[in-house]
Amino acid sequence: MFDLSDRIALVTGGNGGIGLGMARALGQAGATVIIVGRNAEKSAAALRDLQSLGLRAESLACDVALEAQVQRLFAEVQARHGRLDILVNNAGSTVRKPLQDFSLDDWNTVMDVNLTSAFLCARAAYPLMLKAGGGKVINIGSILSTFGAAYAPAYCASKGGIVQLTKSLALAWAKDGIQANAVLPGWIDTDLTVSARNQVPGLNERVLARTPAGRWGRPQDLAGIAVFLASAASDFVTGAAIPVDGGYSAA
Ligand code: NDP
Repeated sequence: MFDLSDRIALVTGGNGGIGLGMARALGQAGATVIIVGRNAEKSAAALRDLQSLGLRAESLACDVALEAQVQRLFAEVQARHGRLDILVNNAGSTVRKPLQDFSLDDWNTVMDVNLTSAFLCARAAYPLMLKAGGGKVINIGSILSTFGAAYAPAYCASKGGIVQLTKSLALAWAKDGIQANAVLPGWIDTDLTVSARNQVPGLNERVLARTPAGRWGRPQDLAGIAVFLASAASDFVTGAAIPVDGGYSAA
């Protein structure tokens, strides 16, 4: 039920943090995993990590906020594999300041990387999933898909948008055997949140106090949900937004 042998999976931002955690899990379940990022050094290190575990992994460079690069990315996937079974829209970033200090560029950067990229990649993946006879889209939202944050207005708007985009994809593509779901991670220890901890005084203590599990998440905490949503085990699950947050959103 959870076997991903012969499946082709593409993970944006799969060269680090949560994306690499999910890429590892998909590979361990049998998939060939294509990790996508901009930083060549990081991608090479992540590829070595995956290959050292004996997994089938490839790396492709792409800025997923840019339409032309996304088109080239999926043309390459088509040329190499002729199909795509699993798309994980995970690439993301943030600009931390209150709304009144945001420039339009700040706003657009966050929206393009976090939300428009998911639209661009899903649209480009669609014909490749039809060729595969169905597929799985996994969009990474956040607990900030639900909650607001004074220092992250564009991030919250983009992550709220991810949930609505996910529902719309689920409805449009159910007839094609494609399921689309969102994962809403809580506070996970990655490069993204190390910089937040450095920038926001008291954040570490507040996260520990507010998270019922009493700890930060780790990228491997996202492994199970990634395999579930990528596999036949979730064939009747679509349009859902599933928190993986140590209980944060329950309170
Ligand atoms: P990281 O910063 O560790 O990883 C983000 C990844 O995205 C990097 O590997 C980066 O690679 C890639 N990336 C960023 N911008 C682009 C771009 N324009 N094109 C291609 N790749 C890009 O962050 P996390 O692992 O923490 O975050 C992963 C996802 O999880 C994000 O969507 C984030 O919003 C979400 N999330 C994270 C939480 C957390 O607590 N960590 C909580 C909730 C959600 P490169 O630099 O090579 O481009």
